Amino acid sequence: MYLKRLDMSGFKSFADRTQMEFVPGITAVVGPNGSGKSNVTDGIRWVLGEQSAKSLRGSKMEDVIFAGSESRKPVGYCEVAMTFDNSEHKLPLDYTEVTVTRRVYRSGDSEYLLNKQTCRLRDIHELFMDTGIGKDAYSMIGQGKIDEILSSKSEDRRAIFEEAAGIVKYKTRKKEAEKK
Ligand code: ATP
Ligand code: MG
Repeated sequence: MYLKRLDMSGFKSFADRTQMEFVPGITAVVGPNGSGKSNVTDGIRWVLGEQSAKSLRGSKMEDVIFAGSESRKPVGYCEVAMTFDNSEHKLPLDYTEVTVTRRVYRSGDSEYLLNKQTCRLRDIHELFMDTGIGKDAYSMIGQGKIDEILSSKSEDRRAIFEEAAGIVKYKTRKKEAEKK
């Protein structure tokens, strides 16, 4: 499984529909200061369900929508779609490509989609559980994350190993069953 494509529209500095294609292996995103490199990783965390405006370097959620520039008007909504290659069926879906989409309007309305079907954020969390993919999972290593892992409490560190071992979904199911 690998990240195949990222489509952004109206997200932060990406006013126009922007598509980035990735291939297996290493991809480097380079560009001058302020050109939108970090906005790409913000988009990835956002589509995976990031709810904190601060961690997306804004003050309110609306700040992820293109706010306009000298030559362009603001837009009314934004959308990020992330497409994974699933030919090995690591994600438990019959599709060989899986696309997760998040859309939000200035009015505050928002939606998540899984292969173009409306879904809940919870469905996305469940789908990626134990894959290392997620807004806080180890597939996204931000600045300072290594220090955080090394200095975190042993219980927090254990969560990282549990995700890698693939047992988070069983623990989650057990917890849910105990609630009922
Ligand atoms: P650096 O090399 O300094 O880390 P970078 O390439 O990571 O830079 P970003 O932080 O991704 O750059 O992009 C910052 C730019 O995105 C700024 O010019 C900022 O004005 C623009 N930006 C952020 N949010 C919005 C928004 N909602 N509407 C329009 N532009 C935005
Ligand atoms: Mg940056």
